[in-house]
Amino acid sequence: MAEILIIGAGIAGLGAALGLEAQGNTVTIIEQDPPAPTTSGDAAFEMWDRRNVPQFRQAHGFSARSRTLLLKYAPGVVARLAADGIVESNAFKLVAPPEIHEPDDDAFTGFMTRRPAFELALRLEAEDRPRIGFMCPETVSGQDLTGTSYTASSGLVLPNRVCNPNSGANVHSQLRWFNTSCFTNPAFGVWGNSALGAVTDPGINNWNISTAKRFPLAFIREGHALELRSDFLNAWNHTQWQSSDKSMTSATYGRITSTRPARQIQFALRYLF
Ligand SMILES: Cc1cc2nc3c(=O)[nH]c(=O)nc-3n(C[C@H](O)[C@H](O)[C@H](O)COP(=O)(O)OP(=O)(O)OC[C@H]3O[C@@H](n4cnc5c(N)ncnc54)[C@H](O)[C@@H]3O)c2cc1C
Repeated sequence: MAEILIIGAGIAGLGAALGLEAQGNTVTIIEQDPPAPTTSGDAAFEMWDRRNVPQFRQAHGFSARSRTLLLKYAPGVVARLAADGIVESNAFKLVAPPEIHEPDDDAFTGFMTRRPAFELALRLEAEDRPRIGFMCPETVSGQDLTGTSYTASSGLVLPNRVCNPNSGANVHSQLRWFNTSCFTNPAFGVWGNSALGAVTDPGINNWNISTAKRFPLAFIREGHALELRSDFLNAWNHTQWQSSDKSMTSATYGRITSTRPARQIQFALRYLF
Protein backbone atom coordinates (compact mmCIF):
# COMPACT_ATOMS: atom_id res chain seq x y z
CA MET A 1 0.00 0.00 0.00
CA ALA A 2 1.10 3.57 -0.70
CA GLU A 3 2.25 6.41 1.53
CA ILE A 4 0.29 9.48 0.46
CA LEU A 5 0.75 13.16 1.27
CA ILE A 6 -2.23 15.51 1.08
CA ILE A 7 -1.87 19.28 1.32
CA GLY A 8 -4.90 20.90 2.90
CA ALA A 9 -7.33 19.50 5.45
CA GLY A 10 -10.44 20.98 3.87
CA ILE A 11 -13.44 19.01 2.71
CA ALA A 12 -11.57 17.55 -0.27
CA GLY A 13 -8.38 16.75 1.61
CA LEU A 14 -10.13 15.10 4.55
CA GLY A 15 -12.56 13.21 2.33
CA ALA A 16 -9.75 11.90 0.14
CA ALA A 17 -7.71 10.91 3.19
CA LEU A 18 -10.61 8.92 4.68
CA GLY A 19 -11.26 7.09 1.41
CA LEU A 20 -7.59 6.34 0.81
CA GLU A 21 -7.02 5.18 4.38
CA ALA A 22 -10.04 2.90 4.19
CA GLN A 23 -8.34 1.18 1.26
CA GLY A 24 -5.23 0.47 3.37
CA ASN A 25 -3.02 3.43 2.44
CA THR A 26 -1.08 5.54 4.90
CA VAL A 27 -1.90 9.26 4.63
CA THR A 28 -0.23 12.37 6.00
CA ILE A 29 -2.15 15.66 5.78
CA ILE A 30 -0.41 19.02 6.01
CA GLU A 31 -2.71 21.88 7.00
CA GLN A 32 -1.77 25.47 7.65
CA ASP A 33 -4.67 26.30 9.99
CA PRO A 34 -4.74 24.98 13.57
CA PRO A 35 -6.79 21.89 14.52
CA ALA A 36 -10.32 22.21 15.90
CA PRO A 37 -10.32 23.27 19.56
CA THR A 38 -13.63 21.49 20.19
CA THR A 39 -15.70 18.42 19.36
CA SER A 40 -18.98 20.35 18.96
CA GLY A 41 -20.11 21.73 15.60
CA ASP A 42 -21.70 24.78 17.21
CA ALA A 43 -18.54 25.59 19.16
CA ALA A 44 -16.45 25.02 16.03
CA PHE A 45 -18.51 27.70 14.29
CA GLU A 46 -17.62 30.13 17.08
CA MET A 47 -14.03 29.18 17.84
CA TRP A 48 -12.24 27.29 15.08
CA ASP A 49 -9.62 29.52 13.45
CA ARG A 50 -9.96 28.65 9.73
CA ARG A 51 -8.67 31.91 8.34
CA ASN A 52 -7.55 30.25 5.09
CA VAL A 53 -11.04 29.08 4.15
CA PRO A 54 -13.03 32.30 3.58
CA GLN A 55 -16.37 30.46 3.15
CA PHE A 56 -15.85 28.47 6.33
CA ARG A 57 -18.86 29.94 8.13
CA GLN A 58 -21.20 29.78 5.14
CA ALA A 59 -24.23 27.50 5.24
CA HIS A 60 -23.54 24.43 3.08
CA GLY A 61 -25.64 21.68 1.59
CA PHE A 62 -23.76 18.45 1.06
CA SER A 63 -24.99 16.29 -1.75
CA ALA A 64 -26.47 12.82 -1.46
CA ARG A 65 -23.43 11.50 -3.27
CA SER A 66 -21.17 12.70 -0.45
CA ARG A 67 -23.37 10.87 2.09
CA THR A 68 -23.30 7.70 -0.03
CA LEU A 69 -19.50 7.83 -0.19
CA LEU A 70 -19.25 8.49 3.53
CA LEU A 71 -21.51 5.53 4.32
CA LYS A 72 -19.19 3.36 2.25
CA TYR A 73 -15.75 4.61 3.35
CA ALA A 74 -16.34 6.51 6.59
CA PRO A 75 -19.69 5.62 8.21
CA GLY A 76 -18.31 7.05 11.45
CA VAL A 77 -18.64 10.53 9.96
CA VAL A 78 -22.37 10.04 9.35
CA ALA A 79 -22.74 8.82 12.94
CA ARG A 80 -20.79 11.82 14.27
CA LEU A 81 -23.00 14.23 12.28
CA ALA A 82 -26.13 12.62 13.70
CA ALA A 83 -24.70 12.79 17.25
CA ASP A 84 -23.92 16.48 16.69
CA GLY A 85 -27.55 17.15 15.73
CA ILE A 86 -27.00 17.58 11.98
CA VAL A 87 -30.24 16.98 10.12
CA GLU A 88 -30.27 14.80 7.02
CA SER A 89 -32.37 16.09 4.18
CA ASN A 90 -33.86 14.19 1.25
CA ALA A 91 -34.74 16.70 -1.47
CA PHE A 92 -36.64 14.08 -3.47
CA LYS A 93 -38.88 13.07 -0.58
CA LEU A 94 -39.55 16.73 0.18
CA VAL A 95 -41.07 17.35 -3.24
CA ALA A 96 -42.38 13.94 -4.39
CA PRO A 97 -45.74 12.67 -3.05
CA PRO A 98 -45.28 9.87 -0.46
CA GLU A 99 -47.12 7.31 -2.59
CA ILE A 100 -44.27 7.19 -5.09
CA HIS A 101 -41.49 6.92 -2.47
CA GLU A 102 -39.37 3.77 -2.68
CA PRO A 103 -36.76 2.31 -0.28
CA ASP A 104 -33.91 3.18 -2.69
CA ASP A 105 -34.88 6.85 -2.45
CA ASP A 106 -32.67 7.04 0.63
CA ALA A 107 -29.84 7.43 -1.88
CA PHE A 108 -31.11 11.01 -2.37
CA THR A 109 -30.41 11.91 1.25
CA GLY A 110 -27.79 14.59 1.89
CA PHE A 111 -26.94 17.02 4.69
CA MET A 112 -27.91 20.63 5.33
CA THR A 113 -25.46 22.07 7.81
CA ARG A 114 -23.00 24.79 8.53
CA ARG A 115 -19.66 23.85 7.12
CA PRO A 116 -17.77 23.87 10.46
CA ALA A 117 -19.95 21.01 11.74
CA PHE A 118 -19.46 18.95 8.59
CA GLU A 119 -15.71 19.56 8.41
CA LEU A 120 -15.36 18.86 12.13
CA ALA A 121 -16.96 15.43 11.74
CA LEU A 122 -14.56 14.62 8.89
CA ARG A 123 -11.62 15.91 10.87
CA LEU A 124 -12.39 14.02 14.09
CA GLU A 125 -12.95 10.82 12.12
CA ALA A 126 -9.62 11.32 10.32
CA GLU A 127 -7.80 11.99 13.59
CA ASP A 128 -9.12 8.68 14.94
CA ARG A 129 -7.95 6.66 11.94
CA PRO A 130 -4.75 4.72 12.68
CA ARG A 131 -3.12 5.36 9.31
CA ILE A 132 -3.88 9.11 9.03
CA GLY A 133 -1.41 11.59 10.52
CA PHE A 134 -1.53 15.39 10.63
CA MET A 135 1.18 18.02 10.37
CA CYS A 136 -0.77 20.99 11.63
CA PRO A 137 -0.41 23.91 11.69
CA GLU A 138 2.23 23.64 8.98
CA THR A 139 2.41 25.56 5.70
CA VAL A 140 3.72 24.07 2.49
CA SER A 141 5.72 26.71 0.66
CA GLY A 142 7.77 26.60 -2.50
CA GLN A 143 8.58 23.58 -4.54
CA ASP A 144 10.00 20.57 -2.78
CA LEU A 145 10.94 17.70 -5.03
CA THR A 146 12.52 15.76 -2.18
CA GLY A 147 9.83 15.89 0.50
CA THR A 148 12.47 17.06 2.94
CA SER A 149 10.97 20.55 3.27
CA TYR A 150 14.39 22.04 2.66
CA THR A 151 13.97 25.79 2.53
CA ALA A 152 17.44 27.27 2.20
CA SER A 153 17.48 31.00 1.56
CA SER A 154 18.10 30.23 -2.12
CA GLY A 155 15.23 27.75 -2.23
CA LEU A 156 17.79 25.22 -3.47
CA VAL A 157 16.91 21.53 -3.74
CA LEU A 158 19.66 19.25 -5.02
CA PRO A 159 18.91 16.25 -7.27
CA ASN A 160 20.65 12.88 -7.48
CA ARG A 161 23.58 12.73 -9.92
CA VAL A 162 23.85 9.37 -11.70
CA CYS A 163 26.59 10.10 -14.29
CA ASN A 164 28.96 12.84 -15.45
CA PRO A 165 26.78 15.64 -16.85
CA ASN A 166 29.74 17.29 -18.61
CA SER A 167 30.43 14.45 -21.05
CA GLY A 168 28.47 12.41 -23.55
CA ALA A 169 27.05 12.96 -27.02
CA ASN A 170 26.10 16.47 -28.09
CA VAL A 171 26.82 18.17 -24.79
CA HIS A 172 28.16 21.72 -24.78
CA SER A 173 25.77 22.87 -27.47
CA GLN A 174 23.39 25.74 -26.89
CA LEU A 175 20.32 23.49 -26.70
CA ARG A 176 22.02 20.82 -24.58
CA TRP A 177 24.81 22.26 -22.54
CA PHE A 178 25.00 19.28 -20.21
CA ASN A 179 23.62 15.76 -20.08
CA THR A 180 20.30 16.39 -18.36
CA SER A 181 19.61 12.66 -17.91
CA CYS A 182 22.46 12.59 -15.37
CA PHE A 183 20.15 14.20 -12.80
CA THR A 184 17.11 12.50 -11.31
CA ASN A 185 14.61 13.40 -8.63
CA PRO A 186 15.51 11.84 -5.29
CA ALA A 187 13.02 9.49 -3.67
CA PHE A 188 10.43 11.31 -1.58
CA GLY A 189 11.89 12.37 1.75
CA VAL A 190 15.50 11.75 0.70
CA TRP A 191 18.24 14.29 0.05
CA GLY A 192 19.73 14.41 -3.45
CA ASN A 193 23.41 13.41 -3.60
CA SER A 194 24.64 15.89 -6.21
CA ALA A 195 27.30 18.33 -5.10
CA LEU A 196 27.10 22.01 -5.92
CA GLY A 197 29.02 22.89 -9.10
CA ALA A 198 28.50 19.50 -10.78
CA VAL A 199 27.94 21.20 -14.15
CA THR A 200 30.79 23.17 -15.74
CA ASP A 201 29.26 26.24 -17.35
CA PRO A 202 30.59 28.12 -20.43
CA GLY A 203 33.79 30.05 -19.83
CA ILE A 204 34.30 33.77 -20.28
CA ASN A 205 36.53 35.13 -23.07
CA ASN A 206 36.28 38.85 -22.67
CA TRP A 207 38.70 41.64 -23.54
CA ASN A 208 38.05 45.23 -22.48
CA ILE A 209 40.38 47.79 -24.12
CA SER A 210 40.64 51.52 -23.46
CA THR A 211 42.63 54.20 -25.27
CA ALA A 212 42.99 57.80 -24.13
CA LYS A 213 44.79 60.94 -25.21
CA ARG A 214 45.22 63.98 -23.01
CA PHE A 215 45.65 67.48 -24.55
CA PRO A 216 47.16 70.05 -22.13
CA LEU A 217 45.33 73.39 -22.10
CA ALA A 218 48.07 75.40 -20.43
CA PHE A 219 47.11 78.42 -22.52
CA ILE A 220 43.85 78.59 -20.50
CA ARG A 221 45.41 77.87 -17.13
CA GLU A 222 48.24 75.72 -15.76
CA GLY A 223 46.96 72.11 -15.07
CA HIS A 224 43.88 72.32 -17.30
CA ALA A 225 43.56 69.59 -19.96
CA LEU A 226 41.11 67.90 -22.33
CA GLU A 227 41.01 64.11 -22.38
CA LEU A 228 39.59 62.07 -25.26
CA ARG A 229 38.91 58.46 -24.27
CA SER A 230 37.44 55.41 -26.02
CA ASP A 231 36.45 52.15 -24.30
CA PHE A 232 35.86 48.87 -26.12
CA LEU A 233 33.97 46.39 -23.92
CA ASN A 234 34.15 42.83 -25.28
CA ALA A 235 36.47 44.31 -27.88
CA TRP A 236 36.68 41.19 -30.12
CA ASN A 237 32.91 40.73 -29.94
CA HIS A 238 33.15 37.13 -28.72
CA THR A 239 29.81 35.40 -28.17
CA GLN A 240 29.81 34.63 -24.47
CA TRP A 241 27.05 32.35 -23.23
CA GLN A 242 25.52 32.84 -19.86
CA SER A 243 25.03 29.94 -17.43
CA SER A 244 22.84 27.02 -18.46
CA ASP A 245 19.36 26.59 -16.99
CA LYS A 246 19.68 24.13 -14.07
CA SER A 247 16.06 24.05 -12.95
CA MET A 248 14.75 20.52 -13.58
CA THR A 249 11.17 21.75 -13.81
CA SER A 250 11.96 24.47 -16.35
CA ALA A 251 10.93 24.20 -20.01
CA THR A 252 14.47 25.27 -20.96
CA TYR A 253 16.26 22.87 -18.58
CA GLY A 254 19.85 22.24 -19.73
CA ARG A 255 19.80 25.01 -22.34
CA ILE A 256 21.69 28.25 -22.75
CA THR A 257 19.04 30.91 -23.12
CA SER A 258 21.04 34.14 -23.04
CA THR A 259 24.46 35.68 -23.64
CA ARG A 260 26.61 38.31 -22.02
CA PRO A 261 26.61 41.66 -23.86
CA ALA A 262 28.02 41.95 -27.37
CA ARG A 263 30.79 44.50 -28.10
CA GLN A 264 30.04 47.93 -26.69
CA ILE A 265 32.02 51.06 -27.62
CA GLN A 266 31.85 54.30 -25.69
CA PHE A 267 33.62 57.62 -26.17
CA ALA A 268 34.26 60.21 -23.49
CA LEU A 269 35.53 63.78 -23.60
CA ARG A 270 36.65 65.11 -20.22
CA TYR A 271 37.75 68.57 -19.23
CA LEU A 272 40.22 68.37 -16.34
CA PHE A 273 40.84 71.31 -14.08
C1 LIG B 1 -19.84 31.01 -0.57
C2 LIG B 1 -19.62 29.54 -0.83
C3 LIG B 1 -20.66 28.64 -0.64
C4 LIG B 1 -20.46 27.28 -0.89
N1 LIG B 1 -21.48 26.40 -0.69
C5 LIG B 1 -21.29 25.08 -0.90
C6 LIG B 1 -22.33 24.15 -0.64
O1 LIG B 1 -23.43 24.51 -0.24
N2 LIG B 1 -22.09 22.82 -0.86
C7 LIG B 1 -20.86 22.38 -1.30
O2 LIG B 1 -20.66 21.17 -1.46
N3 LIG B 1 -19.86 23.26 -1.57
C8 LIG B 1 -20.06 24.59 -1.37
N4 LIG B 1 -19.05 25.47 -1.62
C9 LIG B 1 -17.78 24.97 -2.17
C10 LIG B 1 -16.97 24.33 -1.07
O3 LIG B 1 -16.82 25.19 0.03
C11 LIG B 1 -15.61 24.03 -1.68
O4 LIG B 1 -15.80 23.26 -2.85
C12 LIG B 1 -14.81 23.24 -0.72
O5 LIG B 1 -14.47 24.04 0.36
C13 LIG B 1 -13.55 22.82 -1.42
O6 LIG B 1 -12.84 22.07 -0.49
P1 LIG B 1 -11.30 21.95 -0.59
O7 LIG B 1 -10.88 21.02 0.49
O8 LIG B 1 -10.95 21.58 -2.01
O9 LIG B 1 -10.73 23.43 -0.41
P2 LIG B 1 -10.72 24.32 0.92
O10 LIG B 1 -11.94 24.09 1.72
O11 LIG B 1 -10.41 25.70 0.46
O12 LIG B 1 -9.50 23.74 1.73
C14 LIG B 1 -8.17 23.92 1.32
C15 LIG B 1 -7.33 23.68 2.55
O13 LIG B 1 -5.96 23.70 2.16
C16 LIG B 1 -5.23 24.45 3.11
N5 LIG B 1 -4.04 24.95 2.42
C17 LIG B 1 -4.02 25.71 1.30
N6 LIG B 1 -2.76 25.98 0.95
C18 LIG B 1 -1.96 25.37 1.86
C19 LIG B 1 -0.54 25.28 2.03
N7 LIG B 1 0.29 25.88 1.19
N8 LIG B 1 -0.05 24.60 3.09
C20 LIG B 1 -0.90 23.99 3.95
N9 LIG B 1 -2.25 24.03 3.84
C21 LIG B 1 -2.77 24.72 2.80
C22 LIG B 1 -6.19 25.55 3.55
O14 LIG B 1 -5.87 26.08 4.82
C23 LIG B 1 -7.52 24.78 3.59
O15 LIG B 1 -7.74 24.18 4.84
C24 LIG B 1 -19.22 26.83 -1.38
C25 LIG B 1 -18.18 27.73 -1.57
C26 LIG B 1 -18.37 29.07 -1.30
C27 LIG B 1 -17.23 30.03 -1.53
